[in-house]
Amino acid sequence: MSARILDGRAVASRLWRDLSDRVADLRERSGAAPRLAIVRFDDRGPSAVYAGSVARAARSVGVEPHEVTPPSGVSLTDLAGRIGALNRDPSVAGIVIAQPLPAHLDPSTVVALIDPAKDVDGATPLNAGRIARGERTFVPATALAVMAILRNYEVQIAGRRAVVVGRSAVVGRPVAALLVAADATVVICHRRTRNLAREVRRAEILVVAAGSPGLVRAEMVNRSAVVIDCGINTTPDGIVGDVDFGSVRPVVAAITPVPGGVGPVTTMMLLEQTVDAAERQAAEFEPALDRYALPAASESIRPPAAR
Ligand code: ADP
Repeated sequence: MSARILDGRAVASRLWRDLSDRVADLRERSGAAPRLAIVRFDDRGPSAVYAGSVARAARSVGVEPHEVTPPSGVSLTDLAGRIGALNRDPSVAGIVIAQPLPAHLDPSTVVALIDPAKDVDGATPLNAGRIARGERTFVPATALAVMAILRNYEVQIAGRRAVVVGRSAVVGRPVAALLVAADATVVICHRRTRNLAREVRRAEILVVAAGSPGLVRAEMVNRSAVVIDCGINTTPDGIVGDVDFGSVRPVVAAITPVPGGVGPVTTMMLLEQTVDAAERQAAEFEPALDRYALPAASESIRPPAAR
């Protein structure tokens, strides 16, 4: 028997419909599309490719992308000014910074400049801390995509043994924290893990984010495993994940393909969090509208003392 395919494109298209509706509502209420600022530093490389694909996806749900392209030699002070302006701009709902940054800029210093309330890719240290504490906040989109796929396919998490391969700040660590928050028992593996195969074989839920093509092979997994592959590796054979799909698929319960698994859902998670941010910002804006604008349109205008 072959594994159930966890189809990221199908999940993404369902999310796309929900998001498009929510953006349409927001536009109706505020008269403007929510904007997502995308800060990027090159015209051609991976940061531009990422920015381009996020911008296209944003437009497709009605979110307006706002690409900000500082010169690659920009100083930290100058960049802080530019990001500060985005933080203060009420028309900007969310901010993402496309990686990689130019070598002279420290990524964690730069992402810390984002207002945590607009940090729709969960990149700031404040939001990382909240995630580690099990609090509700913005989460790195890939980590959230893993949870969205599990949820969509109604995979039971509570009480189950989850193994995460990889401990990066953008995927492994936050995924592990989210799984713990969902009551899984979690093991995190990394480069220094002594016997990766032994750990991986015990996984009921296996999340792989190691950036290493074909790292997980058939003999390492067990039959009941649900496998979520976050890897995106460019090889002579095309884009492949960290799991050897061809050999693993026949022996596990369920698996995400690459491409067409975690990737498309990740983009939707970034947009979903952008729409969350926009709705929250709109809600904070509303009470003043209620107080000053709406009573004027109603029949009686009560004096402040009567309130
Ligand atoms: P990603 O962006 O997918 O999280 P990174 O390159 O930032 O990828 O991180 C790779 C992570 O995967 C690291 O935590 C590293 O320890 C882990 N890793 C890489 N190769 C192996 C391996 N062969 N076995 C176990 N863990 C690995």
